[in-house]
Amino acid sequence: MQAGYNHPYRKPPRRQGNPTAALALVAGLAVVLVAVGVWWFVLRTVPVTVNAQELNVHEGVTVEQLLSDNDSFGAKPGNLLSVSENVITEGGGTPATVVVNGEELPVDQFASRGVFSGDTLEVTDGVDTHEEHEVSTEVVAPSVEANGTGAIQFVSQWGKAGEKEVWTGKTSGEKVDKKVTKEPQNMVVSYLNPKPQDGKKYMALTFDDGPSEYTGKILDILKEKGVHATFYNLGENAENYAKLCKRVADEGHELASHTNQHMNLPEQDRDGLRSEISSAADRIEQASGSRPQMIRAPYGAFTTTEWGRAGDLISCNVLWNIDTLDWKRPGADAIVNTVVGNAYNGAIALMHDGGGNRSQDVEALPQIIDQLKEAGYQLVTVGELMKLDGRFPEEVVEGKVSMPEDAVLPE
Ligand SMILES: [Zn+2]
Repeated sequence: MQAGYNHPYRKPPRRQGNPTAALALVAGLAVVLVAVGVWWFVLRTVPVTVNAQELNVHEGVTVEQLLSDNDSFGAKPGNLLSVSENVITEGGGTPATVVVNGEELPVDQFASRGVFSGDTLEVTDGVDTHEEHEVSTEVVAPSVEANGTGAIQFVSQWGKAGEKEVWTGKTSGEKVDKKVTKEPQNMVVSYLNPKPQDGKKYMALTFDDGPSEYTGKILDILKEKGVHATFYNLGENAENYAKLCKRVADEGHELASHTNQHMNLPEQDRDGLRSEISSAADRIEQASGSRPQMIRAPYGAFTTTEWGRAGDLISCNVLWNIDTLDWKRPGADAIVNTVVGNAYNGAIALMHDGGGNRSQDVEALPQIIDQLKEAGYQLVTVGELMKLDGRFPEEVVEGKVSMPEDAVLPE
């Protein structure tokens, strides 16, 4: 040791490490950790079973991604359908049907449900879905049905409206009847032949197409013989022969309507049909002072369709049991024989007081009345026949039918 050379304490020189190397080491470690993490969390594959086949997938991959990566395992997507089952978008239904571990996975969970080790998936075709729709309630009109057979038709049950659920597609705009929520009540028209039940014999003589120049003579004969008949006047004739129309009513006969212009009613539209009936009632009322509800449709043509369109305007439609075919002018004797030869209790005989040359009817009428009386018949109106029968509703017999307020017509 040298004198004077003080060897002061001195910190031993620190070993100078390489800072760059240390940093690299840390960074390297971090990279490894991240890599492991990435592998662990992202790249690590686990075994799952899809459609009975083993498959390695990245753990936690979503069902949506899995389907996308594997072309949906061959499953075909469903279609988006309209409310009436038309295809709006091909493939617009669910992309696939996925059952995970025995439970079907809702489509809205495809994007969030992860797949993990040991999961078992079954992937099959997607299903069709329907567009969004609005639900509304609409009226269901009743139908009309006929019941029985016979010359007189009347409403025995009024129709009542039902309700149905209607779906309107928000995309397609299509409207579909989905289901009937309240069944309508059908209108029922009964057909019935009157059959007086008091043990006596009755018949009704009826005259169509008047009034005309022959009507006065027919009224004279009926008055002389003291019997009443039923007259189905045409509205336009009632206007032209207003005094005769009034005379029919004033002399106690039954005054009814043959509609206005003798059209074939099934060929008319709804408005035309109703107008044929109501304008005739107007004209007959104008001439006679009373408004008839009873009609005889021209040619007898009045189907359930006409009932469904105009049943509220009439009390009954009256056909006939004995057709004299007087319009063919077969001779007065033939007309007499047809009526008398076919007579039975409750029968309604068809003759004409207008629409052509009715001189044979005028000639035949006194004999018809005399011979029927001899055979024990009383001649009455159609309304009286119905009353004597007892099965016809009172308002039909009276000609005072009104459709109930809660009822609706089928058309
Ligand atoms: Zn006629």
